[in-house]
Amino acid sequence: MTTQNKFSRSLLDPGQFTITYELVPGQGSGGRRHERLLEFARRAYEDRRIKALSITDNAGGHPALAPIAIGSEVQAIGLEPLLHFSLKDKNRSQVESHLFLYHRQRFHNLLILGGDFPRPNYYGQAKPVFDLDSVQTLHLLREMEDGSYQHSSATGQGATFAPLSFLRGCVVSPFKTTEAEQVWQYAKLLKKITAGANFIITQLGYDVCKLEELIRFLRETGSTLPVLGNVFIPSLGVAEYMGRGGVPGIVFPQQLIRRMQEEAVRQDTESRLLRAAKMICVLRGLGYSGVHLGGNGLNFDKIRLVLDTAEAMQDQWPDLRQDVHFPAEHSWYLYPPSANGVCGKNRGVLAPGRRQKAQRLHQLTHQLLFAPDQSLTSRLFGRFCRYCAENKVRTALLGKLEKVTKTFLFSCSMCGDCTLAESTYLCPQAGCPKKLLNGPCGGSRNMACEVYPDRTCFWVKVYDRLAPDSGPEQLGAEPPLPPKDWSLDQTSSWINFFTGRDHKKLNPAAGERPSQPGNEPG
Ligand code: SF4
Repeated sequence: MTTQNKFSRSLLDPGQFTITYELVPGQGSGGRRHERLLEFARRAYEDRRIKALSITDNAGGHPALAPIAIGSEVQAIGLEPLLHFSLKDKNRSQVESHLFLYHRQRFHNLLILGGDFPRPNYYGQAKPVFDLDSVQTLHLLREMEDGSYQHSSATGQGATFAPLSFLRGCVVSPFKTTEAEQVWQYAKLLKKITAGANFIITQLGYDVCKLEELIRFLRETGSTLPVLGNVFIPSLGVAEYMGRGGVPGIVFPQQLIRRMQEEAVRQDTESRLLRAAKMICVLRGLGYSGVHLGGNGLNFDKIRLVLDTAEAMQDQWPDLRQDVHFPAEHSWYLYPPSANGVCGKNRGVLAPGRRQKAQRLHQLTHQLLFAPDQSLTSRLFGRFCRYCAENKVRTALLGKLEKVTKTFLFSCSMCGDCTLAESTYLCPQAGCPKKLLNGPCGGSRNMACEVYPDRTCFWVKVYDRLAPDSGPEQLGAEPPLPPKDWSLDQTSSWINFFTGRDHKKLNPAAGERPSQPGNEPG
């Protein structure tokens, strides 16, 4: 049972259209920026239409005032805070500790997100953490709520605290321009929903066909979760910055930048607000449960104008969609053209696995060595690994052999809990800077990695090696991988697999075998 507050009551009531607004704290503990945020909160409280103020958590990978600080002041004003909960800077102990703190201080609304890779700061770049991903964190939150939380899977010791309940939000980008990125976004969204998300907020974007597509995808996959569409109101400077790729994962349409440049020449400061009002109408018309507003250079008077205008124009929404539709120049879409033909261009056909054959030899080797319920060679290899595990020298020698072989083949870092078979024999520890196990982050753009733009995103490479029938629903239904057990780092994953210490938790003594052939180490 999720916690009840003004925001959740509105969000979970299908008759309500819920409005949130994003506050972005800066560096330092106070100052004018801080005062402006609180002034906004006071005005929003008096107006009553905004149901929650979301507060970012080190936005853009830059350190900033922790969201709980502004959150407490927003709470004191009488508005519900929606705290962003970013995983780039917290390991799992810190995640749990923050959850206890937030619950203690009556913050009940969280937006769970991986977060942008840290940017250079004090003495260079901070160490990126990404210990848990968003799917694993949503799962943890649900286990803390329903009482199935275990302090340690090894001991099976349950929670020593009363259940914690949060309203859990997640994010998705429907604005990816290529098939692989978009399919993964939808697949990961399904995993987040299964893991316990209660609502969804979209990435910012201006392609109405993509916004429509997300709603259709959710309906067709049976999801009834409320979705808030992102209505971001940028200044021209911010739009141009985003257009140059300044913000990870955002594809800002050049067409809209040109429109804003023309407006700037005319000194027209109202059009961006009118566009936001129209976008609210269109999102409501498309079936969104609400909007998540944000932008820069905005005070509450401007937002009030946007909301008043949207209320006055709502009935005209079908005629407004073309006014706010700014697609990227080349984009891939999941569905064929709709009956009205409005979104009829560049429709894609699912075609994963263009390079599926690249993993054949690995699959075969795998079958021979790591499928004890299927092959005699595998059972013998398992016996050999357990024999090596009985003695330090043999363990070390087998570890060396594994390291040499897998470093050469997979750039292995010997994390001790191999997930090669779950990602088409590509290693996420070596290939993904955020080391994500359950699908990509939202930071890629046109298939390039957020962190190293000269490299293809790891998950795009995986997509190219998947089975040809892998759509978002099949990928989204795959059971998520649990968090890594770092006590296994620099040990032999072969031994860990056959002795039941890795994520498969095989129990050789009880004759247990992997439940899914192929889900074994490489
Ligand atoms: S490889 Fe892909 S998922 Fe990993 S950090 Fe780069 S963009 Fe994100």
